[in-house]
Amino acid sequence: MYYLSTRDASLRLTAAQAIARGLSRDGGLFMTSEIPQIDIGFINDLMPLSYPERAARIMKLYLEDYSDEELRRYTRAAYGEGFDGPCAAPLKKLDADTAFLELWHGPTCAFKDMALQMLPYLLRAALSKTGEKKEVCILVATSGDTGKAALEGFKDVPGTKILVFYPSEGVSNVQKLQMSTQEGGNVGVCAVYGNFDDAQNGVKAIFSDEALRERLAENGMFFSSANSINWGRLLPQIVYYISAYCDAAAAGLIKIGDKLNYSVPTGNFGNILAGWLAKRMGLPAGRFICASNSNNVLTDFIGTGVYDRNRRFYTTMSPSMDILISSNLERLLYAMCGDDAEVREYMRSLSETGRYRVSAELTEKIRADFYGAWRSEEQTAETIASVYGRGMLIDPHTAVACGALEDYRTAEGDDTPAVIVSTASAFKFCDSVLAALGRPFEAEGAELIERLGAETGAAVPAPLAGLDRRRVRFTETVEKTEMTGAVLKMLGLS
Ligand SMILES: *Cc1c(COP(=O)(O)O)cnc(C)c1O
Repeated sequence: MYYLSTRDASLRLTAAQAIARGLSRDGGLFMTSEIPQIDIGFINDLMPLSYPERAARIMKLYLEDYSDEELRRYTRAAYGEGFDGPCAAPLKKLDADTAFLELWHGPTCAFKDMALQMLPYLLRAALSKTGEKKEVCILVATSGDTGKAALEGFKDVPGTKILVFYPSEGVSNVQKLQMSTQEGGNVGVCAVYGNFDDAQNGVKAIFSDEALRERLAENGMFFSSANSINWGRLLPQIVYYISAYCDAAAAGLIKIGDKLNYSVPTGNFGNILAGWLAKRMGLPAGRFICASNSNNVLTDFIGTGVYDRNRRFYTTMSPSMDILISSNLERLLYAMCGDDAEVREYMRSLSETGRYRVSAELTEKIRADFYGAWRSEEQTAETIASVYGRGMLIDPHTAVACGALEDYRTAEGDDTPAVIVSTASAFKFCDSVLAALGRPFEAEGAELIERLGAETGAAVPAPLAGLDRRRVRFTETVEKTEMTGAVLKMLGLS
């Protein structure tokens, strides 16, 4: 097995090389030349194992140049103390056919921790395996959760620097405070006027800036990515789909070998793609419900085969899904059609016209595995309230996935047991959640965290308690045209 680019299948990289580089120079994303296969025996073997042990077994299938022993060491460190319980990704039953997979028990209370607690280990090892001597500068564009999770993952990791750009409009108060108060000697945080796509495009442009790359090289540094375009981000996410299947069997939701559907709140298409890869590996998964908010470009794409980002951009209460360009979709297209020229053509069309239409054959394949549904702000608030009435406090992203699953079950009449991927703690979005529950409030910002705790009796996650008492270190906002300058300044090169 080797790694190639979705836009150049003639590349032959090792896993370590792909992880160290992050993004391919041709603008494509790294994928494996083949998808490793698992069977029921493999799943049975995982059943008695702890989450870190399951993670090491599964990731090894893709990381031929990492040893078993090494991976077990990394997964134990990544999914240990930073998480608030014995299992990093617990499954919580809602009813006889439905369970939440809670991915927010890590240090930043969002599912990004699942990958970003692991990535620094994979990346440092990759740098040593590839003989890289330069210092790595991780550059991140975030819609809110990735930034904080990457900062926590990389803070004070030797040989690394981490710089995060977030859109000035459209991250929650708690998210902003989490980032602006970040500690660590190797971190930088900067807001960009605009939305997430502006920040993400700015970061992509910096990656492909030759002159800047040389400037960094002269100073003993190079760029890499912690966005979900990095394979080292995607791979740890495959683990919890398989782990959840084991736990669903243990909880009596399914029997091993039965189908299990997954409903996933989707933005950049990284999380749901990892689930689909698990299915391609042989996990008996059924349909993947691709849940969107009002930025429903993926719902339309799955329905019609036309991806069209030329539409109004909405700022919603589920900001991590306020995205019109879902980067990881490119990996799905490549994995399904297996033709780099075809993918290049779609991506050329996307960058030139903002839209592309995939072949009828590809549309059909996508619809066999995915169902797209979207939920309005009003519907999302209703779902938060009704699920709270059933004894569970969920955040707006999770509520979108919950509503989309209802739509799916009604529309397709498929009552296969399902897992709803729960991607953030409700406390990260306490203002929206309090409003949805009809609890009037006058306080703002981090005070609301305690308020939500008091109103619902739910425990405030330790990483969010006392947030408003931390020192704010980063206050700068720049135009998107000034991002390169901001990078140079943060690296001390201007
Ligand atoms: C990032 C994020 C998502 C979207 O995940 P993608 O991998 O970008 O599709 C959904 N919910 C939350 C809370 C997130 O942080």
